[in-house]
Amino acid sequence: MRRSRRKRKKTSIIKYLMSLLILLLIPLGVYFSLNSVKANSVTKSYIAHNHDYKKMEQEFKSFTTSMTLAAIGDILIHSIVYDDAKTGSGYDFKPMIANVKGLLENADLTIANQETIVGGTEIGLSTYPSFNSPFEVADAFKDAGVDIVSIANNHTLDRGEKAIISATNYLNKIGMEYTGGYQSPEDKSKIRVLNRNGISIAFLSYTYGTNGIPVPNGKDYLVNLIDMELIKKDIKAAKEVADVVSVSMHWGNEYQLYPNDYQKQLAQQLADQGVDIIIGHHPHVLQPMDWLTGKNGNQTFVVYSLGNFLSGQMWDYKDIGGVLQVEIVKEVKSKDETIIRVQNPQFAPTFVSNSHYKSFNVVPLQDANNFGLSNASSKYDEITQHMNQWLDSKQ
Ligand SMILES: [Zn+2]
Repeated sequence: MRRSRRKRKKTSIIKYLMSLLILLLIPLGVYFSLNSVKANSVTKSYIAHNHDYKKMEQEFKSFTTSMTLAAIGDILIHSIVYDDAKTGSGYDFKPMIANVKGLLENADLTIANQETIVGGTEIGLSTYPSFNSPFEVADAFKDAGVDIVSIANNHTLDRGEKAIISATNYLNKIGMEYTGGYQSPEDKSKIRVLNRNGISIAFLSYTYGTNGIPVPNGKDYLVNLIDMELIKKDIKAAKEVADVVSVSMHWGNEYQLYPNDYQKQLAQQLADQGVDIIIGHHPHVLQPMDWLTGKNGNQTFVVYSLGNFLSGQMWDYKDIGGVLQVEIVKEVKSKDETIIRVQNPQFAPTFVSNSHYKSFNVVPLQDANNFGLSNASSKYDEITQHMNQWLDSKQ
């Protein structure tokens, strides 16, 4: 009995110890199994994260690209200029710009202000005050690297609708883009967008007026007049199809070296609309460059007037123009974030030399002493200072 009792007692001790062991082992097992789940889940989530990261990298590859845009002022062809370009069979303006061809070709994209309509000889050439120029003007500038011409200005309607149609037909034929004057509503509705190095620029153009010549009824497409409501709409549409918006403005007072209040107000309104670049024309002399800040904190580059590039006008700064060049940088950070920067504006002054109204020749201003300008070097310094005076204080 005692034995059996002892045996029973021994059995119950073993049972007790075993249940204690089991009790001890259960939390240990739970601990290890939990840890192994944790370890697994960490490994899994790490792999998953890594995988996603690689996928994201493929979809949103960030990159930076850049290009240069050049702009020149008025191509204003008086009879003394086209007479000088006459050859046996037609006209040749190429020698007149041969000395600055390098400056124009240097940029990825170049825009010019075609002040006189290139309606061609068939409708009769004419000079001030109602201009019509030979087709060969467009040939020469295309050959020198000009990609697009702005044709909204106070002379667009000088020779009426037929000159605009003739000019734009010819520009289309040679593959020169134009903006600001159009053949039809359909032509006008196509925003001119040019691409270089993965950057697209939309070019818009407007003029303050047309020298009192009324725009033909129902044919508003022939020339873009400055109308802020229309311009706002155009800018909005341009922003949807291009990275950069450049607006050419025909404005200001003739022969004034500084912009008037109207130019400054309009420029600020354009900056407020998010325009990137404003290129001014009409004063026939150079007006300075500046940076404006739009209402959303955006930076807008403006050159108030690029002066005359090739014309028969002389003296009092009317024979000094130049080539503006800006860099445009596009930084694509993600699918939803692209940054556009216009930077490093440079202005290379040019001079139109002639000898007794013959041998018209556009040359870099610093070389103009070789072409009859005695004080070329001091003029170069003066013009460089004039154009940069407002930039210097802001950079
Ligand atoms: Zn003008």
